[in-house]
This record gives sequence, C-alpha cells and structure tokens, in this order.
Amino acid sequence: MRYTSTRDARADVSSSQAIARGISPEGGLYLPKAVPSLSLWEIKALAELDYIGRAEHILSKFLTAEGGWTRDELDEYIRAAYTGTFADPAVAPLRDFGADAHILELFHGPTCAFKDLALQLLPRLLVASAAKAMDGDKEILILTATSGDTGKAALEGFKDVPGTRILVFYPIDGVSAVQKRQMSTQEGGNVRVVGVIGNFDDAQTGVKAIFANENIGVVLNARGRTLSSANSINWGRLAPQIVYYVSAYCDLLRAGNITAGEPINFVVPTGNFGNILAAYYAKRMGLPIKKLVCASNQNRVLTDFFETGVYNRNRPFHTTSSPSMDILISSNLERLLYLAARGDAEQCAGWMRQLAHGGRYAVPGEILRTLQTEFAAGSCDEAQCAAAIANAWEQHKYLSDTHTAVALHVLEEYRARTYDYTRAVVVSTASPFKFAGSVLGAIGAPVPQDEFDALEALEAATGVPCPAPLRGLRDKPVRFTEVCAPARMAEYTRW
Ligand SMILES: *Cc1c(COP(=O)(O)O)cnc(C)c1O
Repeated sequence: MRYTSTRDARADVSSSQAIARGISPEGGLYLPKAVPSLSLWEIKALAELDYIGRAEHILSKFLTAEGGWTRDELDEYIRAAYTGTFADPAVAPLRDFGADAHILELFHGPTCAFKDLALQLLPRLLVASAAKAMDGDKEILILTATSGDTGKAALEGFKDVPGTRILVFYPIDGVSAVQKRQMSTQEGGNVRVVGVIGNFDDAQTGVKAIFANENIGVVLNARGRTLSSANSINWGRLAPQIVYYVSAYCDLLRAGNITAGEPINFVVPTGNFGNILAAYYAKRMGLPIKKLVCASNQNRVLTDFFETGVYNRNRPFHTTSSPSMDILISSNLERLLYLAARGDAEQCAGWMRQLAHGGRYAVPGEILRTLQTEFAAGSCDEAQCAAAIANAWEQHKYLSDTHTAVALHVLEEYRARTYDYTRAVVVSTASPFKFAGSVLGAIGAPVPQDEFDALEALEAATGVPCPAPLRGLRDKPVRFTEVCAPARMAEYTRW
C-alpha cells in the first residue's frame, strides 16, 4: 500500500514515510492511493473479537509489509495502546439512547476525550515509522496546535517516549479552565506547553508555517532532530480512528440491533474534520453506512459548505461552549475534497491556495452533489446545545458533554427535516466533566464560579462519577505558564 499527497500527484511514499513526515513537503496531506476493502464476512468475524482484535485487523490493511510493518509488531503496539489505558474495558463502548439511536463513547481514555483513541497509539507508530523510513537516530520533535483536547492527549501519549520531544501550542482564550490545567500540569521530561495569543486557527496556522519553513527544517536536522506532527493531519492519527466506526457496527450486530449489511447513520461532532473523515474511510472500505452527518456548533463553516459547495472562512469566529469545535479551517476536509475530485491533486491544491489567499473556494456542482449523497450537515447554537444536554438528561438519564450535545441536536434536526430515521450512532467525543460548568448550567443546576468546584458539583447533582484523571486536577502543580504571540512560535523549535 503506497501513499500520495492531496497536492502533488507525483508524491509516492510508504505508510511509514507518510507517518514519519506528517505532512507532504509541498503542504499536502498524505493518504493511501487505494482504499482497502472490508467485506461483510470480515465484519461478521470482527464482531466476535474485542476492540484490540478489531484494531489489529483494520490497521493491518493500512500499515502493510510494504511500509516495513510486521503483523506481530503492529499487534504489539495496538495491545500496548489499548490495554489498561482506558477506564472502560470495551475501550469504545456503545450505549443505547432511545429505541433507534446509540452513543459511541470515545472518552474513557487518560485525557477523557476521543483524541486518546488515536494518540495512545500514534507515538508507537511514529517512533517505529521514523526508524523504518528515516535515519532512526534522529530525535523527533512533535509540534502540535490544539483546540484543547489534542494537546493533552498528545502530551499523555508522548510523555517520556524515548527519542521524542513534544511542544504543544494552545490558544490562551480558546480552551476551558480544565483543559488548560490538564496541559499546564503535564508530567514528563520531554514535554513543553506554550499559550498562544489568538484563537485555534492562529495556533494551527503558526504550526503549519513552521513545517513549511525549510530553514527551520535544515537547522533542526543539523542538530539531529526532525519535525513531526501529532495533529490530525498525520495519517497515523487518522487510521486508528477508522477502527471505532467498524467496532460500533460490530457491537450493534452482536447485540442484534441490526442485521449484517444493514446501513446505519453516524453523527459526528466536527471541528478539524478528522473524526468524520475516518468514518468516511470506513464507509469507503465497505462498512454499511448510509449517511455521515457532520455536526457543527455556531462556527458552521462546514454546514454551509455541505449546503452550498462554498467554503468561506471569512466570517465571525464564535467562542462557544464546545471549544474543540471552534474552528474555521477544517484541515482534513482537504482529504475529502481530494477523494471527491477523484484524486485530482492539482485541483485540490488550487482550492487550498484560494483558501490560503482569499479564505474561500467553491467546488463544482457535480462534486457538491457527490458529497451530498454521502454527507448531511447541521449546526447548533448555544441555546440548542444547552437544551440538548437537558433533554438527554431528563428523557434518557444520559449526561452529555457540550460537543456530544451538538451532535444530538443535529441528529434530531436532521431526522425532522429528512424523515430519515435510520438507526443512528452519535459519536461522543468528550466526558461531560471536561465541560462541567456548561453542563451544570444546561441541566438547571447552580454553576460554581470555579471550574474545579464545578467538577464536584456535577458529580453531586447527577450521581455520575467524575473520571479519575480529572479528579484532583486542581491540586496538581502547574509546570508551564509561558505565553507567546503567533509570530514568535517558531522560536520555540530551538528548545
Ligand atoms: C477534537 C474534538 C472534536 C473535533 O474533532 P475533529 O476530528 O477535529 O473534527 C470534537 N469534540 C471534541 C471533544 C474534540 O476534542
């Protein structure tokens, strides 16, 4: 299995090169040249396995002998990533939500957000990839821009991994108090956390500029280092996310909720488009999926795109109660565009140039119609988000976080609009305790000033236990307090 770039048709690399580099030299994103297939027969067999077994089977299709991977090695990494690290033994458990909907809980990892599913595995894949694809003696410097959850999950994944250092940039006004404290208290000898004055797009643009700057690469190389990314632009982060879509389908099959081959819908709270893109890959592989519903908060740039074919980031940026989705440049959409344009890298590169220069591009009607057959989209404002949390609690005794609530609202609205009542799986991306203040307010309980008091108050008000990693966060010593302007981010690569 070879990989190419969304912006350069000549790019031709192995999976390990794609993962080790993170991003293609001309700025494009790596993706496999062909999508491997998954038969119904395989899905039925996978239904009998646990999460680790399912992951081994799916990932071995993307990380093949051609990239230097052995099945034993891959199995070892996967077992290490998902054994003893997730509070729920199912890793990604599926809960019933009424008669025809389910919630796929992806927040039982060490940082209580779905990023853990990929970031517990990525460091192992990355170190192995670097050894296979490049001079293995170089230290890998991981650069990551975060809207809150990636940073912590990457720090946890990479902390004290030999041969790596990790530098995380977060927008000082764009993350919750809990998210900020999770990062500023990070343990480990190879970690560093810096606040950026600006929003997530500023931080992400700054990181992309560092990758695009050849001088920085040369200087780092001379010092025995090489740059890589833990953001969802790295294929090594995307591939592990395909697994839980297959796993959810297997669980439904096993529980007798569906018959083999019956299509289902997934609703995904979306920001950078990485999570839902993994679902699209699962669909392309053969997982029976009817619609992928892309759920946005007030920053509804993707909703508008799927409705009109025009992607326009020139609009007000809203800071919402679902901060991990406060994004106006959804990086992974580029991979979908490439696939929708049938691998026309030149056209894809053209759109990305327009996005970089004018903040806008429009896809032809034919491509829009193709996308609309596979995707639906909807958005949710702050009041609707709070109402969705209240409804889930009152009607189903289900405590939802703000990001998941966006998806719950969009599902309801999608069904009312389309009458498509296909069995739906709503992807839950964070623990409600990560956004305790907003959740308390939504269920009508008093909201303490301090977000750490809110954790305890949410537990007291609902009887739902606070996850262990968030308990005691208040009393952990803060290690990182640095703040910088976006223009100065590159200086930190000299660390
Ligand atoms: C990252 C994140 C999202 C958005 O996921 P993308 O892959 O960027 O679309 C949604 N919810 C939570 C809680 C997140 O951490």
